[in-house]
Amino acid sequence: MSGVTNGPALPADWASAFVDGELTIGGIPASRLAARVGGTPFFAYDRARVAGRVAALRQALPASVDLHYSLKANPMPALVGYLGRLVDGFDVASAGEMKIALDAGMAPERVGFAGPGKSDAELRQAAAAGVIVSLEGQGEPERLHEAGRAVGCRPRVMVRVNPAFDVRAGGLRMGGGPKPFGIDEEDVPALLRRVAALDLDFAGFHLYWGSQSLDAARIAEAQEQAMSAFLKLAAVAPAPPRLFNLGGGFGIPYAAGDPALDLPAAARNVAAAAARLAQQLPDARLIVELGRYLVGEAGVYVCRVLDRKVSRGEVFLVTDGGLHHHLAASGNFGQVVRRNYPVAVATRPIDGPRETATIAGRLCTPLDVLARKAELAVAAPGDLIAVFQSGAYGASASPAGFLSHGAAPEILI
Ligand SMILES: *Cc1c(COP(=O)(O)O)cnc(C)c1O
Repeated sequence: MSGVTNGPALPADWASAFVDGELTIGGIPASRLAARVGGTPFFAYDRARVAGRVAALRQALPASVDLHYSLKANPMPALVGYLGRLVDGFDVASAGEMKIALDAGMAPERVGFAGPGKSDAELRQAAAAGVIVSLEGQGEPERLHEAGRAVGCRPRVMVRVNPAFDVRAGGLRMGGGPKPFGIDEEDVPALLRRVAALDLDFAGFHLYWGSQSLDAARIAEAQEQAMSAFLKLAAVAPAPPRLFNLGGGFGIPYAAGDPALDLPAAARNVAAAAARLAQQLPDARLIVELGRYLVGEAGVYVCRVLDRKVSRGEVFLVTDGGLHHHLAASGNFGQVVRRNYPVAVATRPIDGPRETATIAGRLCTPLDVLARKAELAVAAPGDLIAVFQSGAYGASASPAGFLSHGAAPEILI
């Protein structure tokens, strides 16, 4: 069948993972993985792909730049444990993520805790552990000081800056203008005076301007402006800053036509920022924090076709998966224009007969679509469906309680 398709092509580096007509993940056929985890659906993360991505970054970035992993993208403990041996630090956003980071063996002074709403209990845990807290609430310096007193530790802090500049890097903006994140740049000097008065251990600055940008030039612009803001604020800091967390924002292609980020160009810009820092504050370290760029492309969501039906000429593959496991692939409850994630029938050769089909989830809502009118191998009940680019913001960012089917198991291969 021909017709209009939204179906993005298979990511090029996954085409070669089809062996004897079946998708392999980490060298293991998808159907064997299904048997190993006790059925479908499941998420599989390929550690070789994660390691490959980290290696590519390490090769492109100067050795002086620290690479941090942001657990929010995927907090699976086994994956975090694996990444702990590859990266220089972790960024966490809750006590739960902090526990996973520390359980993975990361040194506390290499863990940053940011987030707009930190409870007193979380601040006490961070102070006791020696984790670096990114101050971003107006009352946080005093609350953290109190937390430190309660546990008998001097809290380590960074100041998260909500920049005065306008961020144009695309993707999800998390800095600039009025925001719940960070301290407005113009208010930072006054906050720094309170940090000094409260004798908090000042480590440096953090500026997170946004996420999921595929445009290296725009990322460079945000980073240059961030560096200018840092260097200006460093002059009024209570102690010489040891750390500058520049954010990350490196995006991955999700839909057909999305370009891949130009990593050499993005890395050159980070190198330029590092050189600027080395010249002005030679003892300070530059941090780049990344989530989805490290793990997103290494993960696959696999579900099984339960029913194949034709409704008024359109083919529907109804699966045992759905938005309760993979909200982002379904289009986030219809709030955004949905574009298909790359998908494939995992148990059919990619060069066999093909058709246009919609992959539906099993939930009773028209929003539960994993791919609309995708160009796929002809599939039958029992076949497995693979949704690629699913290593970040999948399992942990979906409403697993919705319709009570339960969560999907995750496996690191
Ligand atoms: C979400 C977040 C990240 C990770 O974003 P990605 O798009 O996954 O790279 C990093 N830092 C902070 C502060 C965040 O909130």
